[in-house]
Amino acid sequence: MNEALSYVHPSPASAWDTYLSQVDRVAPYLGPLARWVETLKRPKRALIVDVPIEMDDGSIAHFEGYRVQHSLSRGPGKGGVRFHPNVTLEEVMALAAWMTVKCAAVNLPFGGAKGGIRLDPKKLSIKELERVTRRYTSEIGLVIGPHSDILAPDVNTNPQIMAWIMDTYSMNTGSTATGVVTGKPVYLGGSLGRVKATGRGVFACGREAARRLGLNLQGARVAVQGFGNVGSVAAELFAQHGASIVAVQDHTGTIHNPKGLDMPKLLEYVQTSAEHGVAGFAQAERMADEDFWGVACDILVPAALEGQVTAARAQKIRARLVLEGANGPTVPEADDVLQERGVLVVPDVICNAGGVTVSYFEWVQDFSSFFWTEDEINQRLEQIMMNALSQIWNKADQHKITLRTATYAVSCERILTARQARGLYP
Ligand code: NAD
Repeated sequence: MNEALSYVHPSPASAWDTYLSQVDRVAPYLGPLARWVETLKRPKRALIVDVPIEMDDGSIAHFEGYRVQHSLSRGPGKGGVRFHPNVTLEEVMALAAWMTVKCAAVNLPFGGAKGGIRLDPKKLSIKELERVTRRYTSEIGLVIGPHSDILAPDVNTNPQIMAWIMDTYSMNTGSTATGVVTGKPVYLGGSLGRVKATGRGVFACGREAARRLGLNLQGARVAVQGFGNVGSVAAELFAQHGASIVAVQDHTGTIHNPKGLDMPKLLEYVQTSAEHGVAGFAQAERMADEDFWGVACDILVPAALEGQVTAARAQKIRARLVLEGANGPTVPEADDVLQERGVLVVPDVICNAGGVTVSYFEWVQDFSSFFWTEDEINQRLEQIMMNALSQIWNKADQHKITLRTATYAVSCERILTARQARGLYP
């Protein structure tokens, strides 16, 4: 008998609820392994920590932080850290679970984990941000480490924050432990190619899916939601391969140019604008945020936050191909709408796996203290992702299922086979 988790009260649109529904959809394809499926529906370990810091004005502020290890069946936990005012335990649980599925999809020897702090980093000074990062790292120090759980960047976290995490963990343990975190600066044991890896993987999946659909990238119209680490790199690569980026939305607003936005100029503008956003870019028209979903385009890349593609928005989408750069951008009802309308969705758990793949390369390089060239990294990334996508595509064709359910089928089989072989302790 399985009791529901007492600390979770999922609302219909919660990320955790979306994840549970995705697991339910794969269960019929797991054969005898379905006996173990309940293990996927509960995180192995979830830690909630109080993160108190002294603010620059002398006051004391408290933030709530989380680290969730969803599964350690196939190896140490692996997953990013998010700084955002809407972070909750449930959201971090879903993000950790998606890491488990993603690492198995590309066959990396990792489980899945994720962390976060509920805060708005734009309201903190750089010194306050450093203090909150260091205190959070100390608080979760019990469960992280190069062999137990490895952190990485996610929304609003970056290589500098990874350097503070690495330094704090190293100070607490007494030796320099570069392998506790990936996405570090290159001069601190980071990997070449890591910053652009997720966007590069999204582009590679998009190029392959477009080829299979008979959609020519030359002149293809692309709309991108989220112009951060993932969205901006994917957009840049599509533009470099002849596509037109016709609309971009971020936290500052939505811009549109049916003739194609000038990517180098937009990238430069976002770096220098006061809000670090696209809204004031001169060579484009402003558009109402909701109209973004109905923009005339061939490829849509949601690369911001989860739950963005609702059933209503899915009805408006005019693209033939949706590439999930973000984690969990599409709710299950929207998946159904897109499937009915013949829109192909390359799901997050394979589409944005480029980041964790190069994170794996970084972790391996740190252990061996031998660093690869950027060309080697990009080639190995491409090879791993294209092999994984091809296996998933075959699974989808074999069972006539969506690419999302096919990815879950391939991944959950790997996770639960490992789980079964390890057996139940004691
Ligand atoms: P980021 O902080 O670099 O960028 C986030 C972008 O989303 C920004 O452009 C921001 O303006 C935009 N955004 C935020 N709120 C928005 C809103 N309400 N409407 C529209 N846009 C909004 O983050 P990132 O690293 O690019 O991550 C984006 C997504 O990709 C997340 O779901 C993350 O979990 C996922 N992801 C990131 C990585 C990685 O390596 N960074 C890897 C895999 C998945």
